[in-house]
Amino acid sequence: MIHKINPEATAITPQNDPWDPIRSLQRHGKHVLTSVELTVTNLCNMRCEHCAVGETLTMTEGPRIPLAQVMKRLDQVDRLETISITGGEPSFHEATVRDYIVPLLKYARERGVRSQLNSNLTLDLTRYEMMAPYLDVMHISFNYTSAEDFHRVGFVRAGRPVQRETSEKLYERMMENTAALSRGGMFVSAESMINYRTHERLPDIHRIIAEMGCRRHEVHPMYPSSFAADLPLLSLNDFRASIHRLLDSRDPDIWMLFGTLPFYACSSLEEDRRLLGRLRRERNVTVRNDPDGRNRLNVNLFTGDVYVTDFSDVPAQGSIHTDTLEQVFEKWKTHPLNGSVDCYCPAAQCCGPNLLVVDSYYKDVDFTTRKAVEDSAS
Ligand code: SF4
Repeated sequence: MIHKINPEATAITPQNDPWDPIRSLQRHGKHVLTSVELTVTNLCNMRCEHCAVGETLTMTEGPRIPLAQVMKRLDQVDRLETISITGGEPSFHEATVRDYIVPLLKYARERGVRSQLNSNLTLDLTRYEMMAPYLDVMHISFNYTSAEDFHRVGFVRAGRPVQRETSEKLYERMMENTAALSRGGMFVSAESMINYRTHERLPDIHRIIAEMGCRRHEVHPMYPSSFAADLPLLSLNDFRASIHRLLDSRDPDIWMLFGTLPFYACSSLEEDRRLLGRLRRERNVTVRNDPDGRNRLNVNLFTGDVYVTDFSDVPAQGSIHTDTLEQVFEKWKTHPLNGSVDCYCPAAQCCGPNLLVVDSYYKDVDFTTRKAVEDSAS
């Protein structure tokens, strides 16, 4: 039987983030599949230097798996609470929006499942307006303080020079689209990375995000994956300082969501636990546990391959041509890699680190033997 959720009763707020895997862990006493991410295209009009799926971007692509087949697999996920639609740029072709994305969003809305779409919002506003009646969260990346920044970051990997005027037009359109959709009532969540370019400028980036009317500012450290693999890596001290600086200057009326943080309540470093304590006490600030492989799987809608995330090096764990998503999820739960980060400290509301974070900063740490330090829960 397909469970239906009443969307009215589950507004997305700092108190209710349906993407956080800790909710289903608390409810069911174990990790269960509640979230599916769907890669609907590998095409994109940009080539950002940090793109987490940059290596998979293409110039052309073949046909997608028929929607009916995809929806059948989603139907089988009894506890489905959220879907995320990602790319590439999902709106690259208007036909994809009309014939694939909107039907998926309608399916989710009909089932009471929350939806998110990851976009750069640089294309025609009408494409995003088509989704507006059915979409819960429009998620954008925003790491800029000017059109020059956007030009420097957004086309580095294009393989050909992109004129300054061309990129400036896209930058302006992105900002206008964000403001227009926000004014129209859409929940726009802007994500910034903490990286070597942004870590000292996040307060300015935050101000522009607030001015555009975004409902939420998401902040995630950047880790070395795909295009970002060769970029300079910040130290944990840099990340900590950057987060404190942002908290000192943020607009407290905007929800700030921090994710994939490399700081845990089991740390022996007092400065880590002090930062976590501050994040917990601040109004309108939340820290999301990492969904990848905990409550979420990613499906490539061209090949049918099912991954733990859309950007890690972990190979596909199954295929929707042959497996149900629940079968793939149960298989992943027995995988040694999953076991290596499968820890849970209820008082600290933490269910373990992300695999990329461990690989980047904690290679020699066995998280399964650690426990939250008591002062960190207060
Ligand atoms: S759940 Fe894991 S990472 Fe989080 S505080 Fe506990 S031991 Fe550390």
